[in-house]
Parts: sequence; C-alpha cells; structure tokens
Amino acid sequence: MVEILGVTFCELTEDEVFAACTDYIASGAPHVIITAGPEFVMRLQREPSLFELTRRADLVTPDGIGIVLAAKWRGRPLPERVTGVELALRLLAAAAGHQWRVYLLGASETSLQGALEALRVRYPELLIQGRNGYFKAAEEADVVAAIQAFRPDLLLVGLGQPRQDVFIDRYRDQLAVPLAMGVGGTIDIISGTVERAPVWAQRMKVEWLYRLVREPKRLRRQLVLPQFAFAAWREGRALRRK
Ligand code: UDP
Repeated sequence: MVEILGVTFCELTEDEVFAACTDYIASGAPHVIITAGPEFVMRLQREPSLFELTRRADLVTPDGIGIVLAAKWRGRPLPERVTGVELALRLLAAAAGHQWRVYLLGASETSLQGALEALRVRYPELLIQGRNGYFKAAEEADVVAAIQAFRPDLLLVGLGQPRQDVFIDRYRDQLAVPLAMGVGGTIDIISGTVERAPVWAQRMKVEWLYRLVREPKRLRRQLVLPQFAFAAWREGRALRRK
C-alpha cells in the first residue's frame, strides 16, 4: 500500500486487481473499488466525508499517471495505473463466461441504451440491465430498488466522481452487490457517444491532454493537476526528511 495525501493506494497491477475482482464476486459478500485520480485526491482534501468513504473501500487503484508519478517521487513506485474504464471493459468481457449479472447505472438514456445494445451484440450471453444516471434525489429509492430486484454480481456506476462513489458507499449494505465500482464516462465510451483517446495518446499517457483539447470545458477541472503535483511533492519531501 502507498499513501498519497491521505489516500491508500493498492500496489497491484491491473491483472492483479482484475483477479481480486474475480475473488470478490466469487465470495458473494459486498465489495467496493474506487479508482482515484489526482482530481479526486485533491477534492478529498477539502471534503472529509470523501476521505471516510475512501477508507471504507476494499481497494483504491491509481487512476491516472499523476498518482503513479507521485508514488515514484517518493521512492514507492506503483506498478501501473489501473483505470476504471480498463477494469470495467475487462470485467464486462469476462462477465458472460462467469455468468455474472451486470447492472450499469449512469449516463444519458441514449448513451445507456447504446451501451446496453453494443454489449448485447458483443456478448449475447451477457445478463445485463441498466438505468440512466439522470435521476433526482427523490428517485434514489426507486433506483436502489431496481438494482436490488436485478440482484447483480457487478454494479458499474457512471455518474462522475465523486457522485458515483458517494452513491455506492451510501447504499453499499442495502444493495449488497459483490462488486460495485465507479466507472466515470465508461458508458459513453462503450456506446460510442464519446470517443476514447487514440491509442498513441493512451500509450504516451497523455489521455488527459487529448481530452482537454477535445473538451476545453475540462480546463477548470484540470487546473487541479499542478496543485496535486505540488502537494504530493511537498508531502514526499517531508516524508524523506523524517
Ligand atoms: N452523469 C450522470 N448523471 C449526472 C451527471 C453525469 O449519469 O447527473 C454521467 C455523464 O453522462 C457521464 C459520466 O456521468 O457519462 C461522467 O463522465 P466523466 O467522463 O465526466 O467522468 P469522470 O471524469 O468523473 O470519471
């Protein structure tokens, strides 16, 4: 485990996290994974409730090159970044073979239906249902009831961070899903509503830059990256001096 600005990240490769997911689902007991990037870590500095919620997760993975670099600076390298989208895509590919029941919660109705359709075509045996992510607080009980009625083994929630993680944490016991995980914009990517950054950008670890150029409204959110780099560097320096 590597702690960065109060968040304890697992030191696992994507393969190892995937294996842990399989074990969680096999166990049948509720488990939660959070994929945390620099933005989430910085937000948590201001919101103590997010800090508590992150501590309750079974695994927190480094979602973003910023976290991997920060770990490296403090001499505790993490093997690699493990993103929500990659994990979700792998779990979906494995779900039919394991007969896992999958519930997708999030994105617009068009995007959700597109993703369900694409997945049903790709994995005809897949047992999958979903609901869009535009519901009011008053409708939350209905959303929870619908998920409970389907009894999923895997719940992928794409409401954006931190809302998706707050939702999962709040209903963890009630839903009792063996594996629940926030997946950001994954439903949009599966449906094709939003394109993933090209492979070159993924390989060069500059997906964030690609997304920034494509969606300039992300700039405000990305401004937190230098703040994260500075805070993580300062924390690393203090640790080395001890
Ligand atoms: N979303 C949603 N309900 C909302 C707000 C957002 O379902 O009230 C969805 C949105 O349609 C998108 C996802 O949440 O599919 C957020 O994607 P983004 O790429 O912003 O995720 P992040 O960067 O937080 O991982």
